[in-house]
Amino acid sequence: MLALEFHAPSTLTLADVAAPAAGPGEIVVDVVLAGICGTDLKMARGEHRLFPAGTVRVPGHEFVGRVRENRSDAAHLTPGTLVAVAPNIGCGHCVACRGGRSNLCVDYAATGLTIDGGFAESVRLPRRAVEQGNVIPVPDGLDPEVAVLTEPLAAVLRGVTALELGPADSLLVHGAGPIGLLAVILAKQLGVRRIIVSQTSAARRALAARFGADVTVDPRAEDLPARVLAETDGHGADCTLVAAPVPALFAESLRTAALGGRVNFFAGLPSGRGELPLDANLVHYKELRVTGSTANTTQDCVEALAVLARHADAYRPLVTHRFGLSDITEAFRVSAAGDALKVVVAP
Ligand SMILES: [Zn+2]
Ligand SMILES: [Zn+2]
Repeated sequence: MLALEFHAPSTLTLADVAAPAAGPGEIVVDVVLAGICGTDLKMARGEHRLFPAGTVRVPGHEFVGRVRENRSDAAHLTPGTLVAVAPNIGCGHCVACRGGRSNLCVDYAATGLTIDGGFAESVRLPRRAVEQGNVIPVPDGLDPEVAVLTEPLAAVLRGVTALELGPADSLLVHGAGPIGLLAVILAKQLGVRRIIVSQTSAARRALAARFGADVTVDPRAEDLPARVLAETDGHGADCTLVAAPVPALFAESLRTAALGGRVNFFAGLPSGRGELPLDANLVHYKELRVTGSTANTTQDCVEALAVLARHADAYRPLVTHRFGLSDITEAFRVSAAGDALKVVVAP
């Protein structure tokens, strides 16, 4: 079968590899669509910690497919069933897993990151993933082109849940890439009172407005903290999602937060670049709650699929480009160029 192999640190090769077969307890899925994520671009640049030099692996952690072979006890996953695959697989028994944080498992595995993923015609899902419910049936009637957004939306849901975002809140989102825009759509559905998006690209500001932002700001052209105050009756933002990996934004998010505000550090910074000057007194005197979220759990993916099924048309416009697997190098180039939102690949 055709598969995209990443040879760390820097070569992406389309290769003809042996098609996977299911072992005992395993499932093989024929990929229908796989999305390209910022994580994949980071991997392609040779900057991902899970792809040390010498690694040869098929990336792709955002995919939907149809069950081809099922040698597990999960009888509901009959051949032909359309499924979304939650990529993060915990061990099931460490402290993190027992606490519902399989994304922080000490023995973490993930399709497309530590084991072969979805940029291929088929993917083999290990017993541990099948047993823990990572293979999730797509609700009836939900189009694969929308269901392919399950994983990024699950990550956004995790951040938004940490913020305890609700209708009474104002929300400031830093960054209007696919993540920031998913947050805007979700916030709109939650009835959030005022949504402010800070983003340097004019095209992406226009998209944020189209998806429901009340205010969009170019932080290079305007004094963002002043504008946030003006837009929130002088209070500052009740909730802030830092979804752009720009170091200065982490400190600024504390300054623009309202009293009792909640902030989520959604974006990660490159390894070794995370130590920043932050004004602890802002956290102290404003009683801020600074939260973090990383990746997502299978439960987040289950919830994301339910949201997508209820509001498919709101999310559909996020998928802007579609390529065949044989054109995946071009798909990566388009995704990295920054004008596309979600680029998907169909084997
Ligand atoms: Zn992703
Ligand atoms: Zn674990």
